[in-house]
Amino acid sequence: WHDKLLGGFRRTSDRLVGNLAGLGGARLDENTLDDIEESLIASDLGPETAARVRQRLAEGTFERNMEELGIRLVVAEEVERALAKVAKPLEIEAFPRPQVILVIGVNGSGKTTTIAKLAHLFMEQDYGVMLAAGDTFRAAAIGQLATWAERVGVPIVSGKEGGDAAGIVYEAVKQATATGIDVLIVDTAGRLQNKRELMDELAKIRRVLGRLNPEAPHDVVLVLDATTGQNALNQIEVFRDVAGVTGMVMTKLDGTARGGVLVAAAERYGLPIHAIGVGEQMDDLRPFDPNEVARIIA
Ligand code: GDP
Repeated sequence: WHDKLLGGFRRTSDRLVGNLAGLGGARLDENTLDDIEESLIASDLGPETAARVRQRLAEGTFERNMEELGIRLVVAEEVERALAKVAKPLEIEAFPRPQVILVIGVNGSGKTTTIAKLAHLFMEQDYGVMLAAGDTFRAAAIGQLATWAERVGVPIVSGKEGGDAAGIVYEAVKQATATGIDVLIVDTAGRLQNKRELMDELAKIRRVLGRLNPEAPHDVVLVLDATTGQNALNQIEVFRDVAGVTGMVMTKLDGTARGGVLVAAAERYGLPIHAIGVGEQMDDLRPFDPNEVARIIA
């Protein structure tokens, strides 16, 4: 686990350490503090965390010629503080059943894989899980989800390519209710190219869900590809407006990701981060641990 994660944050971490090492024992005057702050922002950590680190260093509770290690310790503490506010596992409430989780995100972000990972996780926790293939736009998406459902060992409700997503969701909730399913995970189309259509489709799914259960969807989970760096932040903004995101899963943190973007996302949007993806298999979902991530980054 740890090694995979190291990969995902290496770019952020290398950049940070490289930048700080370059400062090599310089006096912590205004210029040096500026440099440190800039290097933190360049490492994707976000302006607020960078500003807080700067402030703490400037407060003079440290030696004036601060060693790199000391600076990294302050960075780690501030990163952990920013992340601790948003770390929140996806929980299954006792009532009502089924709990409906809408999963959204652009194509290629790892949405299908994340649904499989979540299904596997809930299965391991002894919940009854069902999938709904609400991304009817791509035939491949329906097929892929069905393959995962079989692998994980959960039932799936799906329709034809081009079919009515809201209709499938309706059918899925009915079946889930009839068979005592605890968690219904709904895949949705990820076409950001046409925001209007996407919005209409999600609104329709919400209306149908709301008629069956006023509290549904209980969660709207945005899947974000961490390798897209700052682009991931733009996606949060769009989906937050279009879909009412309640939490996020960030994927591909095992790759050459600039994982530091997690910190920027945490401080800018304050949305819960439920878990992180560190691979392509169903057990490659990891609880989001702010302390672990902070220690890897700094
Ligand atoms: P979707 O189009 O959003 O449904 O994306 P998919 O779930 O099909 O994933 C797109 C690609 O990313 C696939 O090749 C997945 O195996 C891969 N992928 C998904 N999550 C992860 C992850 O956490 N780490 C890595 N390395 N690859 C991932």
